[in-house]
Amino acid sequence: MELAEQVISKYINRFKSQPQYLIRAPGRVNLLGEHVDYNAGLVLPAAIDRATYIACSPSATPHSTLWAVDLNQEAFFSAESVSAKTQADATPLPEWAFYPAGVLWSLRQENLSTPAMNAVFSSNVPRGAGLSSSAAVEMGFMLAWQALGGWEMPALQLALLAQKAESQYVGVNCGIMDQFASACGIKDKLLLLDCRSLEWKPLTLPTDIAIVIADTSIRRKLAASAYNERHQACAEAVRLLQKSLPHIRALRDVRVEDFNRLSDQLPVKLERRARHVVEEIERMNQVEALLSAGKIQEFGQLMNQCHASLRDLYEVSCAELNSMVEIAQTLKGCYGARLTGAGFGGCTVNLVEQTHAENFALTLAETYQARTNLQPEIYITHAARGAELIEI
Ligand code: ADP
Ligand code: MG
Repeated sequence: MELAEQVISKYINRFKSQPQYLIRAPGRVNLLGEHVDYNAGLVLPAAIDRATYIACSPSATPHSTLWAVDLNQEAFFSAESVSAKTQADATPLPEWAFYPAGVLWSLRQENLSTPAMNAVFSSNVPRGAGLSSSAAVEMGFMLAWQALGGWEMPALQLALLAQKAESQYVGVNCGIMDQFASACGIKDKLLLLDCRSLEWKPLTLPTDIAIVIADTSIRRKLAASAYNERHQACAEAVRLLQKSLPHIRALRDVRVEDFNRLSDQLPVKLERRARHVVEEIERMNQVEALLSAGKIQEFGQLMNQCHASLRDLYEVSCAELNSMVEIAQTLKGCYGARLTGAGFGGCTVNLVEQTHAENFALTLAETYQARTNLQPEIYITHAARGAELIEI
């Protein structure tokens, strides 16, 4: 049974009625421009064909009741309890419930109508793997409350409110990329987003190129605190560089030449962090021209450089991610491979010639398993539509 049908059938069992709405909100994969969204740079994500599905209806109770099928846990909260970060009976919110509760909190701040709901949800976006299962949950509940509340807002605006939920309510200081991609995805398109102006345009990947995602199966604890620490390092680098470059507001504003000239003004570790961002933004400046000209080989090289930079300068890789990338880069038909998402475990993204994709996936899985004793999950994915209400 498809995940959407499972969610509906679980809803019917749990709440003894048909759900009024079904929502699908996808995860995303980022092809290039990593750890630059919170530095006002350019990114290149696509929504993927894995998503969170939510079945929901308005509830007669004053609180919402949510069943997270994948964790087999329920939470119930009201707009009031959510501002105190608790459930409706004053017990603590479970960790996963911070995401939907944060969405409710963010919408209430805008004075939007957020009726209590009964909801059942489940996702096939792997959690904590760099494919943004969190944004999928957030965008799903954004659309759920939009449907129940009877108001409408542009997708990008919803994404901004979801980002606010994750950074200010959940406490992960994220950029806008994940929520944007989940909200605005277009079938078969990569999305080139300027995280400062929020202008974006769809770019086309040739149809004979496959996006292959490889999950190392490794999950690192403390990824959120390491993420926030990188965020702070970038802010600190901006502060120090402003002494010589008073006009800069973010690492986006630092040109590579200026950075090279001034890099000895930064402590060694901070210099490495900032260098990744400055050089990654420079790589991103080449993307549109390369993809428009169909220069996939050159684009793939940028992906490989990005991985080396995340590994050596930004230091967010790990042995398993490095193995997965090293193996992929030797395989036939592979244009580029790198870790995707925040890092510290999770997935790699690979651009592979379509005709080699099946073989690539098989060989990558076998070789990785032989080398690490870990069972990876590898799938060929497609750029998919963004979050949507589905007719039921
Ligand atoms: P990711 O890279 O997948 O976004 P995050 O650490 O940002 O990783 O978010 C993962 C968290 O999002 C999970 O620990 C959980 O709290 C929440 N989450 C994601 N998917 C689900 C789900 N299917 N059910 C419940 N909670 C989920
Ligand atoms: Mg996330």
